[in-house]
Parts: sequence; structure tokens; C-alpha cells
Amino acid sequence: MSRFPRLRSPILARLLSGAAGGLLVLSAALPGPGCGGIVVVDATDGEGGAGGQGGAGSPVTSSVTSVTSTTSVTTSVTTSVTTSVTTTSITTSITTGPDAGGPVERTLYEHPLGQVAGGMNTLTFNVPADTLGFAVLAEPVGAPATFAQLGVSTLISPTNAFIISNYALPPTDWSFAWYGITVAGVPQNDAPAVMPTVAPGIWSVSLGDPTGANTPGEATVWMRRTVDGQFHGGLLDVNVFLANGVTSVPYLTETLIEAYTDYAGLQLGIVTFYPLASQWSVLESMEDMLGALEQTAAATRRPALNILAVADLAGDLEGAAGVAAGIPGQGVSHGTHGSGVVMEVFGDFFDSVIMEHEGGHLAGLFHTSEILPPGRDPLGDTAYCSDVETQFENCPDADNIMFPYGSFEKLRTPMQDRVIRGSTLYRGAWADGYQVEPPLDEPLPPPNGPAPPQPIAVLDLSGQMPTARRPRPAPSQAWAAGLSQGAAAVLSGVWCHGGPAAVDHHGVLQRAGGDDPVQLAAIGADPTAPIQVRKRALAAAGRVQPPPEVVAVLSTIAGSEGSPLQVRVGALRGLQAAGGPELAAVAQGLLRGKDPVLSEVARRVLARRP
Ligand SMILES: [Zn+2]
Repeated sequence: MSRFPRLRSPILARLLSGAAGGLLVLSAALPGPGCGGIVVVDATDGEGGAGGQGGAGSPVTSSVTSVTSTTSVTTSVTTSVTTSVTTTSITTSITTGPDAGGPVERTLYEHPLGQVAGGMNTLTFNVPADTLGFAVLAEPVGAPATFAQLGVSTLISPTNAFIISNYALPPTDWSFAWYGITVAGVPQNDAPAVMPTVAPGIWSVSLGDPTGANTPGEATVWMRRTVDGQFHGGLLDVNVFLANGVTSVPYLTETLIEAYTDYAGLQLGIVTFYPLASQWSVLESMEDMLGALEQTAAATRRPALNILAVADLAGDLEGAAGVAAGIPGQGVSHGTHGSGVVMEVFGDFFDSVIMEHEGGHLAGLFHTSEILPPGRDPLGDTAYCSDVETQFENCPDADNIMFPYGSFEKLRTPMQDRVIRGSTLYRGAWADGYQVEPPLDEPLPPPNGPAPPQPIAVLDLSGQMPTARRPRPAPSQAWAAGLSQGAAAVLSGVWCHGGPAAVDHHGVLQRAGGDDPVQLAAIGADPTAPIQVRKRALAAAGRVQPPPEVVAVLSTIAGSEGSPLQVRVGALRGLQAAGGPELAAVAQGLLRGKDPVLSEVARRVLARRP
């Protein structure tokens, strides 16, 4: 708790001034970083690279993992019925290719750079030939629990190319100065020094605190090499932290398969589920989010992508569907403020879009275009939209997973794949015919405090054969009848906070024509509309001076056990925004109810009443 006063000044000052929308915009003295992340996508074609289990021949089923959960996984967001499932048993076949006994060589390894005193420090390190990528991790003294900033001011190649300069990587609006850890990845842009191959030789990195404080700390470089600097496949292990009552292990497993099968040539590996206490199911501030990320210290498998599956992002995080803990974050050290992504779970295909989009941020991908121009990604093969707010789905990059509203087309470009392949998130294969490297075997030190939670479930998904994505029927647009095209696009897209100025998604929605509370309430009540659309429509309805009949609809839906969880949460948030006297009675009823998520949201809502 003592950390809050330190964090509040820079973050809240910025938020209160309207300078930041919240998520990834935490730098107080610099142009704000790009959106921390909201959503989506994965290429459906053009994916290169074999999986890590390369080689031909019949796969061999070698073992079976049986997982028994003793944790209550109670509520599925896809159903209005609150089901108590106290034991979940999942059995999956582990299928490995015939080369499972082949040679193995580590591709990912750590190169400590040592400690740095306060002020600006320049460190150098040798990047060998055949390096696929690397990441500099700079952590202030006191990490991971600190919110001090030790940023990457410059990153200079042996060819004297300034990849990062003054904490920035133009033309993005990201700032390489984060709270408690800063990560800079190579490649993140298409400069000749880093793409398609990383220039070998002596690189230099300068570390400092953009706020002017003398912040000491230490730095390390994680290198990824292969036999020839090319990508030869790999496995993406995932640690899922599942907040109580949000959804089920089987549902999230399906969503993971949807999102990360053939992800830039990676395949899913071991997926480990951990419980996340109810307190973290609702995140209303950056302090909440960073605190939730510290819970990933419980994970023992690395490298891995940590995903925190929560119910509601609200308050300072209002409207976000997901947030990534950095562009990039990292997968080699858990429990830091750069250790994963947070996502709301809605219970439909949208969830896989959020997952894939946020994973892209954590791997180092920026939005192809920012909602507020002129920010964009630094890759030459992605399209750019100069006016996302008015063009929406007519933007040339609207089918890219890193479009700021995400994309159900989930496309990526070759350069975007190249960035993901250079990241620290996965276990790689040294060469064709080699096994994928094992996890980093050194266990992380246990976190302070109570014993870490044990996994709910451990699944080996590495035997999944890469399959084409399942065709998805186009979602019905009946709910959007009468809405402007722009308002419909905003309601259904991924919402992202961040950038040099706040993106007020509710404001964008209203300017696009989504400002009629009666119409919004009707959309929220429409069972044929997507869950995220309904949730947002109800929350938005409360913001536009709803008449009594709309307030009554919000009250009814919030209290209705026949409505999906997220729709009820949206209705409660709409009542909160409306600020009327109805809120207290509805919230108190939910507080006393059985649903842990609704109870937690109600508790927060009541605590915030004036
Ligand atoms: Zn995003």
C-alpha cells in the first residue's frame, strides 16, 4: 500500500489533467506512449515457419496429463446461469513429433549488463551474428514492486543507427520508460540495422530517468539466437491467471487455441492456469493493473506469456478490453510490471481477438495507426490510416490485428511476424530438426508474503496440429440497425486507452452518432448483439442523460439473473454513470448476491459513491 502515494502523483496528475487515457501512458515527462493495448489478430495466411516440432512422420502420443481442479470456477460468461463447478477435470493428449529426441540447443539466454548508478548511464554489449532478436530489461532498485522509472533513453546499433532516441521510437508515440521495469526490443521497427537481420557487433544502450530523478538499478539483455539468425519455430507457453468467477478453464483453453495456433509460426505449448483472487477481477486504476501483474510472480514456467483474465476494466481504465504491460513487455521474468497482459473476458469470439492483439503488444507490436494521429507503427509493410476516428472500418489497415480497434480478420504482415519472432515470449528451436528448447530451468525466487497459489490446471497443447482457423459466420448486424456505421464500429471494436492524449471512447462513440440513450439501452437489451457491444451500450447509455425509462432498463438488466454477466456489469456501470438514486439499491442487492464478480463490482461502485 505504501507504493500508492508514489504512483499517484505522476499517474493521477496525468490522468486528472486529461493527458492520458490510462493504460499505457504512464510517463509523466515525455510524450505519452502508445496505446497499451487492446486487441487482436493473427494472420490467416502467409504464416511462415514450421512449428517447433518440425519433421515429418507420424506423431506419437506419448503421455496423458490429467488435471484436477479444486478451485471453484463458478461462472461462465456465456451463460446467464451461475453454475458452481468445484472440480474440473481435463485430460489432454500430449502428441510429440518423431524428432522429439533430436538435438536441442538453447536459443534464449541472459546477458547481465550489471548495475547502474543514478543519472544517465551508457552500457555496451556484444550482439553475436545470427541473433534473431534481443530485449533490454532495465529495472530500478526495488523492482518489481517499485514504480520508479529507469528508462531506455537511447539504443544505438553497431552501424550507428539510433533505434531509440530520447526514450522514443518514431513514428510511434510510445515512451520507453515504464514503472518498475522498462523493456526495449529488437526488432520493433524495420531499420536496416534490425530487420530482416540484427546487426552484429557492439550495441550501446543509455539508461536514465526521464523525470529527472537519479534512479539506480540494473539492466540485462536477453538474446535470442538460432543457427542462422532465422526463425525455426517455437512453442508459446502461457500462464493464465483466472480471476474468480470470470469464466472457465475449458472456455479459455478454446480461446487460447483460437488466438495462438500458428501465431507468427509459433504453436501453443504448455498452458498453466492459476487462480486470481476476486480483488483482481475488477481493475479500476493503473495501480490496480500493476498490482495484478505482480501476481504473476506465482508462475514458475518461463519464458511464457502471462494473461490475466479479469471481469471488468473500469475507472481510469474505463472501456478498455485489454491492456498490455508494455510495448514490448517480456516473458522471462514474472511478477514485474512488464509481465503480461490483462484482458476482459466477454464470452465470445471477441476474446480471442483481444488475446491476440494484446499478445502482439507484449511482443513489441504497436498499433498500425493510432486513433489520435499521427502515431503509427514503424513498419513499412503495414498500412496507415490518418483518420481512424472517422474512417473506422474503411481504413486500409482495418483488417490488421494491430488496428487500434482490433480486427476480426486478424491479419498480420511479414514484418509484424518478424517482430514477434524476435521477442522473449517463447521457447525457440535452434534449427530445423531440433527440439524446441526446454523452459528456463532456474526457478524464480518466491514472492514475499503468503505462499503462491498453485495451478488450477496444466495442459500440454503442443501436440495440436496447426489447423486453419475455423470459419466464423459473420456476426449479425441487426442490432446496429438505425445506428451510424461509425457508432456501430466503435461499439463492436477493441477499445484502447493511451497515446499522447486521452482517447475518450465514449466521446468518440457520441460524436459518431451513438448518443441516444433509448437506442443504446435497446442495443444493450438485444440478446442477438455481441456481448461487448451490449456491455458498452449500457455503460454508454448512462452517460448521456438517460430518461427514467432507460434508468429502469439499466436497473432491471443489472439485477437480472437471466442476462449474461458482462451485460449486467455494463448495466451497473451505466447506472453508476447516470448518478441517480437507483444505483445504491441495485448495487446493494448485487453485493449480497452469489456472483463473485457482480459482488466485487458492486462493492467498488458503492465505495465510489459521493
Ligand atoms: Zn492495442
